[in-house]
Amino acid sequence: MTPDESDFWFLPLGGTGEIGMNLNLYGHNGRWLMVDCGVTFESGTDVDGEPILGARAHVQMADPQFITDRKDKLDGLIITHAHEDHIGAVPYLWERFQCPIYTTAYTAEILRRKLQEAGLTEKVPVHVVDADTELDVGVFHLQWVRLTHSIPEPFGLVISTPAGRVFHTADWKLDAAPVLGERYQAQDYQALAELDIDAMVCDSTNADVPGWSASEASLYKGLKHHVEQASGRVVVTCFGSNIARLRTIADIAQETGRHLGLLGRSLINTYTAAKRTGFWSSVETFVDPHHLGYLPKQTVLLVATGSQGEPRTALNRLSHNSFRDMQLEPGDTVIFSSKVIPGNEAAIEALIERLKAMQIDVITEDNSRMPIHASGHPAMDELKAMYEWVKPRCSIPVHGEFHHLRANARVAKSVGVPEQLEGKNGDMYFIAPVRGIRRGAVKTGRLGLINNKLKKLF
Ligand SMILES: [Zn+2]
Ligand SMILES: [Zn+2]
Repeated sequence: MTPDESDFWFLPLGGTGEIGMNLNLYGHNGRWLMVDCGVTFESGTDVDGEPILGARAHVQMADPQFITDRKDKLDGLIITHAHEDHIGAVPYLWERFQCPIYTTAYTAEILRRKLQEAGLTEKVPVHVVDADTELDVGVFHLQWVRLTHSIPEPFGLVISTPAGRVFHTADWKLDAAPVLGERYQAQDYQALAELDIDAMVCDSTNADVPGWSASEASLYKGLKHHVEQASGRVVVTCFGSNIARLRTIADIAQETGRHLGLLGRSLINTYTAAKRTGFWSSVETFVDPHHLGYLPKQTVLLVATGSQGEPRTALNRLSHNSFRDMQLEPGDTVIFSSKVIPGNEAAIEALIERLKAMQIDVITEDNSRMPIHASGHPAMDELKAMYEWVKPRCSIPVHGEFHHLRANARVAKSVGVPEQLEGKNGDMYFIAPVRGIRRGAVKTGRLGLINNKLKKLF
């Protein structure tokens, strides 16, 4: 299948009909553009929370075969932001299509670290983009669109060709107080209506959640309350990439007179990347993990990765009493400043049960009276506002399971977006000249990392 000069096509190979491993392609005039190249983490634990060794691939990604076969026609890869489901597969897959990568400074910093680990730094051309500058990548004209999300530098893209124009939102919410970075500006999106957007390819993660997502700044109160109530150590577990959340917790540590410690490689990695790119300006001293065991327990506040019950994380080790530098004791508190990602329910439940058996106070979204986690994705009223501002001719829901895509399409329809195209990975979405879908146009599959080797799973 090859798009001609009057065609503008969209082809998701991953992330549409599922949460995770986003890999999107746009086609025009014989050329292709890739947007994001991410992974999915299977929690890799059985119902008792014990790691399953070798049986399943912990890291999975979309099979890029379609574009590998056409790599000479691929103009570039754009990474919208540094979440693993958008960036994580680059070190594993890049050699298969070998195109230039374009992204903004913070995301480039995270990518650089990944490429370094994979020994690819010298090989991969990464172009750092100034988000205020428009750019031609092959036959595609690109404009970065500022958004708010749960990571530094989240961007959407306006992708223009002579045949048509798309607003690819990537991940977003409308946060009036995001803690880190600027608040959202409605006029940025109202201006897109002037551009005559043919299709809005839009985040569906929370499309079935009524209302408006909580602001990142609103969590300060609840988190501080729980830390103040705690008599022993406090461990807050959150997503390792959420620098704004870390900022809030660091402030609370200082105000409550506790020493702050970071546990988990991904957390330390994102913190240093944030520091290097100017997203973390204050001077914090983090406790050396070796000293944790010697500090009075009521003076300790730890941030740890592992909120999804992942086996190789600090929190999991703490729950097994196998963390080298410290052991939790009865009366200590663990706060889950996170949500359950679908698929991880059993692993998280097992983790919480282990903590409770150690007589740890466990605080989750469910038993906290105040909000302690804010989603980075738009709920219904945010979707409505965005559709009304941008006024696309058509909505293409992505980034979600089928019920999320359906809910997003319903919201679009309810605010007068004339058309909705609902499909899944491997469907060819025709945006121009005539809108429609060819279902199952491209064979899709999944690759997984088993014993550090990339294997085809199906
Ligand atoms: Zn995402
Ligand atoms: Zn994201």
